[in-house]
Amino acid sequence: MRPIRPGDRGPAVTEIRTVLTGLDLLSKATGPHHDEFDAATERAVRAFQQSRGLSVDGRVGAETWRALDAARWRLGARTLYHAVPVPLTGEDVRSLQERLLEMGYDVGGADAVYGVRTSRAVAQFQREVGLAPDGTCGPHTMGALRRLGRKVVGGRPQWLRESDAIRQSGPTLVGRTVVIDPGHGGTDPGVVVADGPLRWTEADLVHDLANRLEGRLAASGVRVQLTRGPVPETCLPDIDRAQLANSLGADVFISLHADGHANPEAEGVATYHYGTDNGVTSATGERLAGLVQREIVARTGLRDCRTHAKAWELLRLTRMPAVRVEVGYLTSPSDRSRLVDPRFRDKLVEAIVAAVQRMYLPIERDVPTGSIDVSELRAAVAAGTVVD
Ligand SMILES: [Zn+2]
Repeated sequence: MRPIRPGDRGPAVTEIRTVLTGLDLLSKATGPHHDEFDAATERAVRAFQQSRGLSVDGRVGAETWRALDAARWRLGARTLYHAVPVPLTGEDVRSLQERLLEMGYDVGGADAVYGVRTSRAVAQFQREVGLAPDGTCGPHTMGALRRLGRKVVGGRPQWLRESDAIRQSGPTLVGRTVVIDPGHGGTDPGVVVADGPLRWTEADLVHDLANRLEGRLAASGVRVQLTRGPVPETCLPDIDRAQLANSLGADVFISLHADGHANPEAEGVATYHYGTDNGVTSATGERLAGLVQREIVARTGLRDCRTHAKAWELLRLTRMPAVRVEVGYLTSPSDRSRLVDPRFRDKLVEAIVAAVQRMYLPIERDVPTGSIDVSELRAAVAAGTVVD
């Protein structure tokens, strides 16, 4: 075919511009709205050729056309399988390969060709998550990939099973065990702030929160255990708190803290889950952290200091999804004025309960952040119906 080149017009140019717009190489504003191979189109074609390792001439010949055609496929739009003798190629294959690579599967490289190795990697993934290992990426396999999200990394397939096992255990909270860990205590008050005649301590504040959370979760049929009482004699080290949660066979571990900083302007909520600098992360811990963080931000308006991966003993040694929530800065006058208000603490607790519930909802039945009414959950339990 004769290359399509600058100055050409027609439906083929519109198609090229549509694909380039979809790839964000052409601005959405001008995008596919006209059929002229103008200077912007030429620049976009060159950028595309460069990104695909094609010879860069700014014209669309047969090879560039095939590459553009492959680029239209979005992962999930069609079933992928190992076709012979002409293998399937496309951006969707490349996305699938990248995702499998991230998860530690051997696909060779992300070459956008669905060959034997990709098919074998898909089969291995399917086996790990309990699907029929046929090496074909159809709706079920896509669903499993989507549920597990992008951040299962470090070649730890057992975490894939862990995530899926949690969802498959069903949405009910009844009978689950949650260990709540109010930070500090005993000889360690945590962050202490004198406010006129008043003295606020992190240890007291988070114990009150833990109490409220215990009440709410117990009302939903959850077995709850706190790692300490209101005035313990000594401060239990984190390693013992983790071991306590393990020995109780907890399903979820939630550690509660408040932050402090010399700068009174530091404020906001942050949630931590297990992970290391080289990208190893607990998929379920990360998901729970994300839910807790989003629910708290949506329901309280505290500043969003996001979720972070940490290799702290508390998170590393616990064998269940575990998070540590820093519910705001006691040293920030604005965070403090809210934290000392019991109604605000109830809001925090509602957010955490909603997050724990969402952890067990299958992805297709998950609900928007801020939308779970915790009192309805309680009513459903009281009425003897399974929370669903
Ligand atoms: Zn603390």
